[in-house]
Amino acid sequence: MNLIDSHAHIDDERFDEDREQVIERARQNGLSKIINIGHDLESSRRSVQLAEKYRFIYAAVGVHPHDAKDVPGDYLEQLKEMSRQDKVLSIGEIGLDYYYDLSPREVQKKVFIEQLNLAKELNLPVVIHLRDAYGDFLDIMRVEGLEPITGVMHCYSGSWEVAKECLNMGFYISFAGPVTFKNAQKVREVAARVPLERLLVETDCPYLTPVPHRGKRNEPAYVKYVAEQLAALKGITLEELSQSVCRNAEKLFGI
Ligand SMILES: [Zn+2]
Ligand SMILES: [Zn+2]
Repeated sequence: MNLIDSHAHIDDERFDEDREQVIERARQNGLSKIINIGHDLESSRRSVQLAEKYRFIYAAVGVHPHDAKDVPGDYLEQLKEMSRQDKVLSIGEIGLDYYYDLSPREVQKKVFIEQLNLAKELNLPVVIHLRDAYGDFLDIMRVEGLEPITGVMHCYSGSWEVAKECLNMGFYISFAGPVTFKNAQKVREVAARVPLERLLVETDCPYLTPVPHRGKRNEPAYVKYVAEQLAALKGITLEELSQSVCRNAEKLFGI
């Protein structure tokens, strides 16, 4: 089997004790690639370092809506500088989070739009984090002249109607551990309707651990549980699902 974890945070301090073993277990479980995602400047830099150290790890650099309030004046130049590294595939994770509202919404929007424009300038896809902000997201994508941008809606938990709009814009839809949760029938219904050629899988580790390890720290090796759930929803084998999501990730990120 061959799988790609399209969204991991293995630079997180919760992996400081055993990062090497976690990476080794990912390899043993058939992961051919891991994309490590930044959420602020520091974690973006750590993602680039991991990509430099491990052949099968790639990086995305970006500022999460939670961290939008803390960006320094030159953050776009810093992200641009980091993105010169060949293994930086994407700008992310970026977006809007009106559930936690850890940054003021106007700041979230400003930082999001600035990074979308950076992605457009650099011709890179984006990794979108979106929670309870679907209307503003669609408005931004419509009016700011950002149509050429593609990317992935990470850990998607919205409605099928919004998913359809995202698919029409050319976005891929990625699912994580919650698709395996008992109470996530709505997420499974949406996942079942996303065309196979637009699906991605991820862990978002160390968060969102899938069943049967729910409650423990998540890691890239567990992406197989997400893939198994999606294969069951699609009525195909895990092998077929894996082939598709690998092809999709390679196409989107140009690897
Ligand atoms: Zn996220
Ligand atoms: Zn994340």
